[in-house]
Amino acid sequence: MTLTNDDKQARLTEELQLIQLMPPYIGIFPSGIDNTESSNKKINLLDDIAMAIATAVHNRVGVVMEERNDAVHFTLAVNGSPSSDDREAAERFFKALLQQEGDFALHMLDIMRSYAMPRITSLAGQVAESIGQFLRADLIRCVANDDSARHDEEIPGFKFLADKLPELRGTSVLEALSFLFKRLQERAAAVHRSASDPAFPAHDASLVNGVLFLAYQLAKAPIFGRILVDRNTRPPSVHFVGRCRYTIAMLGRYWGCLERLRTLVKLTRRNITYEWCPDDVEGIVNDQPIAMRRSALQVIKAVSDWGRRTVMSVSDSAFNRLCLQYKDTVTVSTHPAIRLILKAGTNAESGQSRLVGCSGGVCWTCSEWIALYNSTVHQDNQWRIGPSLLEVDTTFALTHRYPFEEDVYESAKDFKAMTLHNWLDPNPRDY
Ligand SMILES: [Zn+2]
Repeated sequence: MTLTNDDKQARLTEELQLIQLMPPYIGIFPSGIDNTESSNKKINLLDDIAMAIATAVHNRVGVVMEERNDAVHFTLAVNGSPSSDDREAAERFFKALLQQEGDFALHMLDIMRSYAMPRITSLAGQVAESIGQFLRADLIRCVANDDSARHDEEIPGFKFLADKLPELRGTSVLEALSFLFKRLQERAAAVHRSASDPAFPAHDASLVNGVLFLAYQLAKAPIFGRILVDRNTRPPSVHFVGRCRYTIAMLGRYWGCLERLRTLVKLTRRNITYEWCPDDVEGIVNDQPIAMRRSALQVIKAVSDWGRRTVMSVSDSAFNRLCLQYKDTVTVSTHPAIRLILKAGTNAESGQSRLVGCSGGVCWTCSEWIALYNSTVHQDNQWRIGPSLLEVDTTFALTHRYPFEEDVYESAKDFKAMTLHNWLDPNPRDY
C-alpha cells in the first residue's frame, strides 16, 4: 500500500499526540535541563531575538542571521504565516533597536511589554507554579548543609538586591534564597493574574520589570546546578528542577537579552535589517488540517516487543483520559526552524555551521528532523540550535521533501514506546 503525504503526516501526528498526552518520559534529559543558554554567543543572540519578538508561548518564532561586514540581516519565521500581531511586534522591536531613546534597557523593556504581555503573563504563571512546587519539595535545604556558603556566591545580584530589600538584612544564605524565591513566586503570580483581572493595575511596568530582573538573577543561582549533579537526586527530581530553572530563565531572558542587544547595536552601528521568511519554498505547509486515521487506543497498541507486553497487561480503561483528550483533527504547519533551514537551502559555504534561534527552544520533532538533516543532507554544513526542553508539539508538519522523514516517524514511534513503558511500568529506582 502506498501512503499519501497526508497518511504519512497523520501517522506521525497520531504518535505525537499520544506522547504529549502521557506523563513526560524521564529516561533521557533534554539539553535544556542542564543548560539554559548555549556556549555559542551567536546562538544566544538569535534565541534572544526570537524570544523578544514572540507574542505568545505556543507560537514559536525562529531567527537566522547573515553577517555582511559590520551589518546584520535577520530572517524571521513563525509556525504558519506571520499574523498582523507578529509583524507589528517585529516592526516595533527592530524600530526600537535602531532608535536611541533615553535609557536603552528601560526603553527596550517598554517596547517588549507593549506586545509581549500575553507571553510574559503566561510564563509568569508557569514560573509561579513551578517555584511553588520547588519550595514545597524543600530542595532548597541543600545549601543549608554548607557552612561556607556565601551570599554573593549563592545569590546572583545579591548586593543590588540587599540594597533594595531591607528584609534581606541579617539573613542566612538559606533564608535569603527562600525569601527571594517566595518573592518571585508571589510577584510572578500577580503578573499572571493581571492578564485576566481588570481590577489589577494593568501590566504595571515596575512590577513586571522587577519580576523579569529577579527571574534573571535566580535562574543563575548555583543551587540548581548543585541539585542537578547531586547523585542522590532521583531522575524525576532532576527533570523537575531542570524544567523549573529553564522556565525561570525563559522569563528572566527578557532582562538577560538587554546586554547582548546593546552589544549588537554597538558592533553593527545600527546596521540591522530584517525580513520575514517567504512561503514560496518547496515543502512549506501552512495551517493544514489533518484527520487522524487511527483511534488513540489503536496508536497505543501499535507497539512492538516489550512495549506490547506492558500495554497488554493494563486494562483499556487506564487510557480513558488519553482517549478523551485525543483530537480527531490537528492543524499542522511547518515549524519556524525548519522553514528557515528550507529557505537557506544549500546557499552556505561548506564546512560552516549555520545557526538558528528559537523562542522557547525547538520542539522534539524539529530537533529530530534537524539532526537527521545534518547527518544525511548537509553533512558539510551543520545546523546548530540552542538548549531546549524538547517539548512535543503536535502541530509539526513534515515537508515531504526528504526520505529521512521516514526516520522521524520511526523515532516518534520509539519515543512513544519508551514513554508508555516508563509510565506503565516505571523503574522503582527512579521514584
Ligand atoms: Zn518544532
